[in-house]
Amino acid sequence: MTTTSTPLKRALQAAKKAMGPQQYGAAGRVFECAMCGHDQFKVGAYIVLLGMHTLVCSHCSHVEFFESAPQVVE
Ligand SMILES: [Zn+2]
Repeated sequence: MTTTSTPLKRALQAAKKAMGPQQYGAAGRVFECAMCGHDQFKVGAYIVLLGMHTLVCSHCSHVEFFESAPQVVE
């Protein structure tokens, strides 16, 4: 019996990380919430259906709209 770190396990960890709040940037700057100044956001995926990209502040739930997808800051 072997216990290895499988590609599937790593993919699940990456997906879990991608689903949590992250920092985003646009125009070379880290984006901060206009309401509370927090810098951790989740993507509001349902608005993508309308052709818009949104970030939802994980602190105060303020929503920002973008015409093109903001970049994730690693
Ligand atoms: Zn906020």
